[in-house]
Amino acid sequence: MADRAKFQAIKGVRDILPPESALWNRVEQTGREVFGTFGFAEIRAPILEPTELFARSIGLDTDVVSKEMYTFVDRPDRLKEPKKLGEYGEFIEHVKKLFQNGEIPNTRYNEFAMASLEEAWEKYKQLRPRDKLTEKDWESLDLLILSKEAMKLGPDMSMRPEATASVCRAYIEHGMQVQPGNVKLYYMGPMFRRERPQKGRYRQFYQIGAEVLGTSDAPGIDAEVIEMLMTLFERLKLKGAILNINSIGDKNCRPAYVEKLRAELQKVREQLGPDSQRRIETNPLRVLDSKIESEQAIIAKLPRVAENLCDECRAHYAEVKRQMDLRGIQYQENWRLVRGLDYYMRTTFEITAPGLGSQNAVCGGGRYDGLVELLGGPAATKGIGFAIGTDRLILSLQEAGEGATQTGLDVYLAWFGAAAQTAAIGLARRLRGAGFVVELPAVEMKFGKSLGLADRLKARHAVIIGDDELTAGVVTVKRLADGTQQKLNKHQLFDYLRPRA
Ligand code: AMP
Repeated sequence: MADRAKFQAIKGVRDILPPESALWNRVEQTGREVFGTFGFAEIRAPILEPTELFARSIGLDTDVVSKEMYTFVDRPDRLKEPKKLGEYGEFIEHVKKLFQNGEIPNTRYNEFAMASLEEAWEKYKQLRPRDKLTEKDWESLDLLILSKEAMKLGPDMSMRPEATASVCRAYIEHGMQVQPGNVKLYYMGPMFRRERPQKGRYRQFYQIGAEVLGTSDAPGIDAEVIEMLMTLFERLKLKGAILNINSIGDKNCRPAYVEKLRAELQKVREQLGPDSQRRIETNPLRVLDSKIESEQAIIAKLPRVAENLCDECRAHYAEVKRQMDLRGIQYQENWRLVRGLDYYMRTTFEITAPGLGSQNAVCGGGRYDGLVELLGGPAATKGIGFAIGTDRLILSLQEAGEGATQTGLDVYLAWFGAAAQTAAIGLARRLRGAGFVVELPAVEMKFGKSLGLADRLKARHAVIIGDDELTAGVVTVKRLADGTQQKLNKHQLFDYLRPRA
């Protein structure tokens, strides 16, 4: 029998429990309020998306896509699995039909697996009786089973590692480009990446993000998105947040810069670690991200993107900075800020916060003007957005002592006797209706036990209803902080409880 006590949350995921969950709610609620005042509305996108969506947008060379996604092949809605070898013939015919009507992806990979499955099936049909099977016969049986297992019988899907691609997919799918002005959306929810868990890094983590999609790439949009973000952090009293910004050019100037960088990196190849060496070929910009101590002096001497921007990108970046100044936003320029995902261009930014150790980036974002078009949407669609790591934001707030939320029990309603229970149920309903937090014992308890529980639950007040109170038309109210006690009628009770201290 399974040992029930053994179940634990799987590696890298966790429960968010009370009272911490109240802080999560406060953060999310503040996000909704602040984003709402900037004209953003919520999108709730699915967690599962076609793998191809992320492969194409985030990029195959990124860690996120190449090793961190939770990907699986789904099965078609109606496919009867063979239960014994003799049923494989029927299975093959069925799969062929599903190939034809497109329910099973008609990929080269599947064609190959299908061919080998059919070949193995033909061999199986000619096999001798079971007791006379040769080594070779067993091999063809293995092939039959393996080819079936190898087939990708359904759509390839992944749990989202981020949500920008999903927002762009939804923008295209619902033809949102016809809406007046820019489309301004925010989201909040879980993301999934198979990363090595540590403080501030989880496999299921949460993001609060926002995106602006439309035809304009005005630098004022970049600055306003950042202003919105900083307003949220300010409202949450996040202290010590530092905003880093950069411009990484566009398709006109970035390729030349990347080549220049690659050429310089080739010259110092031997002095770099294996990850950076690999990135010289796959994604030289990512070398700038390196935190490895021995690489820092080398990186400091590499050509800088700001000095290699084309005129348009240079002007855009200068105007972003001017627009930030107009809004009184403090920032640091950081030429090494390239961000991990492929789709970024021009403006990139990142915010670090204290109390997080090495995982100190609490938010990342940037402009991604070509992404919607890359995903099959209207050409010339522009986009910019950010994603806050909610787990890290919460951690930083807690470390700074801003994590407290006002929770707790206003009234513990102790009743004694059946008639008192009826009165207590009615009173609890009215108190809750007025917004008080009320605990009403479900069963009758002895006086001492009941008041003891009120203490342990840290109730502010115990309201007591027994026979005496019923007869007198009052309740006894005991303030648990100092034990003061008085008898009040219903009206007096509400007035007495009102100021929530
Ligand atoms: P990215 O989508 O990689 O630009 O990340 C945006 C933000 O999400 C980061 O700045 C982090 O705050 C947060 N984040 C990314 N990956 C993780 C993770 N594995 N665990 C917790 N937070 C994460």
